[in-house]
Amino acid sequence: MAFDQEALSRADRETAGERARRMDANLRDADPRAILESAVGAFGSRLALVSSFGAESAVLLHIAAQVRPDLPILFLDTGMLFGQTLDYRHDLARRLGLTGVRDLRPRFEDLALTDPNADLWQTDTDACCGIRKVLPLDRALEGFDAWVTGRKRFHGGARLSLPVVEASELKVKFNPLASWGQAELDAYADLHSLPAHPLVAAGFASVGCWPCTQPTQEGSDVRAGRWAGSQKTECGIHTARAPGAAPFLGGDI
Ligand code: SF4
Repeated sequence: MAFDQEALSRADRETAGERARRMDANLRDADPRAILESAVGAFGSRLALVSSFGAESAVLLHIAAQVRPDLPILFLDTGMLFGQTLDYRHDLARRLGLTGVRDLRPRFEDLALTDPNADLWQTDTDACCGIRKVLPLDRALEGFDAWVTGRKRFHGGARLSLPVVEASELKVKFNPLASWGQAELDAYADLHSLPAHPLVAAGFASVGCWPCTQPTQEGSDVRAGRWAGSQKTECGIHTARAPGAAPFLGGDI
């Protein structure tokens, strides 16, 4: 059969960047549920949501459960998470009726070669995040054209200018909660009686891997307890890389 170029929709012809700019212009003032509904409508089964099941995750996961309970939810089980996070991941998914949660784990070969003693975080946090977060997510996202994150502008740093829709690594990325602050998150969680991550009550405003997460002081930035005392503020999954690059494992791999 001849290839019918005219049959391609405008969306099919657009690059990820063009599509992200167009959708961002339409959705930048929309509420989170409308943003997620638009993402699902535009990408269908080619859309995934990435969640840490951390301190603020319940809100976006609840919205996802209302829009599409079987949405693929990618959860990075780094092997370094608090036991409370693993329990929360199972309890919350069951409570919200989310049926598409996928546990992404580091590859055995990467760990054996690069972090055989599970202590890489002590000497090279970027490399550790590389094999435990970035590479597993990159592999999982190969099956998708777009993904959803829970990032918010009030987290500060590079997130201050976060768009609602952006392009990254040739994929479209949606940030439905970009404009929400702590008050909106708390109000939504209260309204829907969402259970908090167990470590929030212990002073953790943001929860990641146990070696790299500390409780935060009252009034501190939300992410102040992540990689505290170092210059690192992001794990790397939101950092654009050249196609095919493997910067975390060195040139031999
Ligand atoms: S947050 Fe820490 S322990 Fe977790 S993957 Fe990154 S460096 Fe490793």
